[in-house]
Order: sequence, then C-alpha cells, then structure tokens
Amino acid sequence: MVRKATSLFGSDESQQLPLEIPRDDHSFSRKNISPNALKVLYRLHEAGFDAYLVGGCIRDHLIGIEPKDFDVVTNATPEEAHALFSNSRLIGRRFKLVHVTYGREIIEVSTFRANSAAQAEDTDKRQSLKGKDTARSSHGIILRDNVYGSIEEDAERRDFTFNALYYNIADFSINDYCGGLEDIDKRQIRIIGDPRQRYQEDPVRMLRAVRFAAKLNFDIEANTAAPIKEMAHLLDHIPPARLFEEVLKLLGSGYGVKTFQLLREYGLFKYLFPDTDALLNSGWQRKDITPDAFILQGLSNTDTRIQGGKSTAPYFLYAILMWPSVALRHEEFSKQGLPELPALHQAATMVLDNQVASTAIPRRFSTPMREIWDLQFRLPKRYGKRAFTLLHHPRFRAAFDFLLIREQSGTDLGGLGTWWTEFQEAPDNQQRDLVNQADGRKNEASKPKRRRPRRRKSNAKRPSDSQES
Ligand code: ATP
Ligand code: MG
Repeated sequence: MVRKATSLFGSDESQQLPLEIPRDDHSFSRKNISPNALKVLYRLHEAGFDAYLVGGCIRDHLIGIEPKDFDVVTNATPEEAHALFSNSRLIGRRFKLVHVTYGREIIEVSTFRANSAAQAEDTDKRQSLKGKDTARSSHGIILRDNVYGSIEEDAERRDFTFNALYYNIADFSINDYCGGLEDIDKRQIRIIGDPRQRYQEDPVRMLRAVRFAAKLNFDIEANTAAPIKEMAHLLDHIPPARLFEEVLKLLGSGYGVKTFQLLREYGLFKYLFPDTDALLNSGWQRKDITPDAFILQGLSNTDTRIQGGKSTAPYFLYAILMWPSVALRHEEFSKQGLPELPALHQAATMVLDNQVASTAIPRRFSTPMREIWDLQFRLPKRYGKRAFTLLHHPRFRAAFDFLLIREQSGTDLGGLGTWWTEFQEAPDNQQRDLVNQADGRKNEASKPKRRRPRRRKSNAKRPSDSQES
C-alpha cells in the first residue's frame, strides 16, 4: 500500500515507504511536462493501462533544474504500447522498449521490469518474454533484462533512489518507492540495494553516480561510493560502443571539468581513456603542452559553450582528451626520423587504435579528430595562398578553437591564435597584408641562416681565418 506523505521530502522519521505525495503537496504539474509526453501518458491511461513519468524529469524538477527528457513507464508490454501509437517503433535488445516520435522529440516508453536477480521467485506472477528474457555474462553483468513486473519491482531495479520517483497520470501524485525524496533533501546519491551487487550487474552505474554528482552537485553517499575504486575494473567488460555514448554524456553535458576530476578521483577514468590516464599519472609534459592544464581548459571551454546553449561536436571532445597522447607519440615517431606530418599520422593511428579497445570511436568521428590534429601543424604555415586555403578547410573552425585552447592552457605559439583571429575578421585587402606580415616574419627569422653560407664563401679565399675563429 502507498502511504500518504506528510511532507514532501519525507524527513519525518515515522514515514514508511512507499510514499505518495498528492498533487496539491508537490510542485510538479502538467505545465512542467512536454505536451508530447502528456499525449503518450493520456493515451496509455485511456487504453486502461497504468502510466507514469519516471526518472530524471521528476528528479531534476524537484531539484530545480529544467527537465531535459521525459521517460514514460507503464504496465503495457512493449508490443501493446507499440500498437497504441502509429508513430512508434519497438527498439532494443538489452531493454526492449518503445520510441514514440513527434518530429524531433522522442518519448521513451518502457514496461515495468523486475530485477532479474530476483526472478526465480514468483515467475508465474510475471508476464515475461518467452525464452531469452534475461541473460548474464560470465562476469555477472546483465546482458538482457526483459522480465516484466510490478511498479514496486520496477522501482527496485532502477539505479539511484532519486531516479525511482514516479508521477502518476491517473491522480497526478508523486510516488516514492525507495526514499528518493529524502535523499534529494540530503543532497545525496544513494544506490538502491546492495552497492556491490548493483555495480556487478551493471558497472556503468558507477559512471552514472559520478555523472549525477557533478551535474547535481550532490555527494555520493558513503556506502554507494565505497566499492567504486575497487570495482572500477569491471568497466573493462562493458562494450566499447556503450562506453563511447556514456563518455559523451559524462563529459559533454556541461559539467565536464567536475566529472573529469571525479572520474580520476574514483579511478574510473583509467577504464575510459587508459593512455591519457597513464600519461597524466606519469607527469609527462613539454614546453608546448601541459596535459592536465590542456584537458581542463578544453573541458572548461566545452562546459561554457554547453551551458550557454551552444552545441559541441563529440569529435572535438575526444580530440581534446587524446591530444596529449598524440603529442607524446608524435615526439617518439619524430625521434625515429619521421618528418612532421607522417609522424603525426602514425601517432594518430596508434593512439586511436589503442583507444577503441576502451571506447568505440566511429569513423565519422575519428576522421575529423585526425583533421583537427593535422591542422595544428598546418595552421602555423600561412605563407602564399595557404592561409586562404586553410580558412576554407571544413575543419578550420574546430581546429582554430582547438588552437586557442592550447594557447589558453599556457602553450606559447607566438601569437598564432591572435593572428588567425585578426585574419578571419579582416577585410580582403587587409588579409593580404597580414599574410605578408607573417611571410615577413618568416623571412626575418630565416635571414641569418641564408647569410651565413655566403659569408663563408667569401671567407673561403682566406682559409687561415676559419682556424683562427
Ligand atoms: P538524464 O536523462 O538527466 O541523464 P536520467 O536519470 O533520466 O538522467 P536516463 O539514462 O535517461 O537517465 O535513464 C532513465 C531512468 O532509467 C533513470 O532515471 C533510472 O531510473 C533508469 N536507469 C537508467 N540507467 C540505469 C542503469 N544503468 N541501471 C538502473 N537503472 C537505470
Ligand atoms: Mg532521462
């Protein structure tokens, strides 16, 4: 039975779970819900199914953050939900669910699920997919999780208490099954159930704990935090494609700096970017690169952009995180005698090959990453027509931003960023002057080298001089 709560955050010790907060006692209303999500909820409800909003949207609203997406959960099976919406499709293997599409907005509809760890009991009560309804890897990681259950069971298999809050479209109440309201009040992230077991089932939950800690500025509750360092290695068993997506959410959601620091602190970063982590731990740096300053600057610029409502390309983020390793490998290949650009291409290939064992990087991202790195070596060369050609390179803008981050993190590039800024802003006739100036500087720099052999030539007539000097 769901008990009526006497306070929103359930701080009254006598209150027992689950709690029901009636519509008048909480601030989440239909005005806070996207009209399309509302349509989905009403359609399910009218068809006789239970329909709730769950997860991030309720959590974020109660914390005072604008919800970003609306996840619907129901007792209708995916097939039943799919049949109700002509604009929907069935997706997923690990979790079978339904996507209802309205233009660019997708409303995700999932069916109440039971934690498959507890599935041995009560199987008759459940409506499960025949045959392969659940599966685990040899490491205990849940590969498929399609055992349907009640709302109570659905709450227990969610990750953190504040993600198990449900908004009921039947009476507009909020239902708290795991103590999420109290944890929001305490500003803490608490995993549901036994932390070790829950991380074993899905190691990505460790990354999610850190992501929410950074985004919400919450603490990770002591028992939830305790096993993370020791269990971080389980991330090695997560498919690289899933980790690729997870990294984008971790570092590309506007809280990259804080998330990066927490990932390092909890020993998780190593399993996402092994080469970068080793390099940061080694303390390696060079006159033209200080790896940690560079990465922090890159993430900080990205955070500012995202918080200002601008987008960032995933390849840019990855190019930042892997550049220190590329610089290190480039140095090694150069020492072996390779010219500048071939050394870079070898370095990029090597670093990318190593990285894809941890996080997949689709080619549509690795190609622009290579271009950004490549342009770091081309942007200093501005003579003749080159500057004009570079300006039209499809990756110019990203490479220029990247160059500015290098400078902002302390690399002295001789005013190259300022030059490119002026060059882009200058009218046509002045652009030529800027190129001439850059050419002039180049000629200036090379003058002594040209003179020396000439002097030697004239001195050659007097061999004794060379021995004197
Ligand atoms: P946001 O969308 O802001 O990143 P969210 O909490 O909505 O946060 P989603 O990834 O959209 O995160 O997941 C929706 C809900 O699904 C979560 O709130 C949680 O209840 C559940 N969930 C997601 N991932 C897991 C997981 N790995 N283990 C258990 N439950 C999960
Ligand atoms: Mg969400």
